[in-house]
Amino acid sequence: MELVVNFSGGKDSSTLLAYLCERYPHLKKHVVFADTGWEHPDAAEWNRALVAQIAPGARLNIVRNPHKDFFAMVRQRGKFPSPQFRQCTSDLKRGPIQTWIRRNVADPVVINCLGLRAEESPARARRPKLARDRTLTNSKRTVWNWLPIHDWSETQVRDYLAARNIPLHPVYRYLNRFSCRVCIFMSRADLAAVRANDPEAFQRIADLEREIGFTLQNGHALGGLGGHRAHPQLTELQRELGFALQVVLQTQCFQSGLYARQIAEEWRLLVLMEEKCQSPAPISSEF
Ligand code: SF4
Repeated sequence: MELVVNFSGGKDSSTLLAYLCERYPHLKKHVVFADTGWEHPDAAEWNRALVAQIAPGARLNIVRNPHKDFFAMVRQRGKFPSPQFRQCTSDLKRGPIQTWIRRNVADPVVINCLGLRAEESPARARRPKLARDRTLTNSKRTVWNWLPIHDWSETQVRDYLAARNIPLHPVYRYLNRFSCRVCIFMSRADLAAVRANDPEAFQRIADLEREIGFTLQNGHALGGLGGHRAHPQLTELQRELGFALQVVLQTQCFQSGLYARQIAEEWRLLVLMEEKCQSPAPISSEF
């Protein structure tokens, strides 16, 4: 019997790995990290260090979909995945890990361990703690999907890690998950936190929305969260325009009207120039 540990470097998979190492020290473990191509820049490095700390001697296996990453997938479909159609999970995470298991684990009994918890969502709460994997099981091998920390609370997870001095990635200072830099499950508050703390990631998704004409969240463009950082001159002009319009309304003065119109035109021109300058950032080849 061999264990495959699905590892993302987040709090739940760190807990999962530590728990399995403590509870089943003699079982062989394969630690696998699926890189979607939209991970935090230090994810691989962070995960390697974490595995070395939690499971000394274990190797971190990094798997990817050889045909596409997150951005290629969105461009191909012309839209983002959604909670109902999570193509990102099936094509960029589950699929590559299944392929890796088929090619690398020969034992007749494989336990595929995931750090999913019931508390996270109603869909996860409905998942059985142990179930035979129908896709991977064949006449030579039985694969089980097991959720060892399914009934753990977030407090238990955090306490468990703290008691063992297992660190949390710095992203937890502003988000509750260490996942894709911008995830389809993020709330508006999460997205605002990404915009403030990881503006490059925010801008890349805002640019992608504009490119494909489809929004990450139903009908709410990231631009609506203020994806563009306003040029200081624009902010100043906006203030001036507001003041000029007030004067026009109060005095009905023709000259003030002309002045307000002039500012408005200048403001529109600057907005256009800003948009032209904010072309999509190139996708790093390391993804
Ligand atoms: S972290 Fe979010 S965006 Fe990334 S694969 Fe998972 S569900 Fe999709």
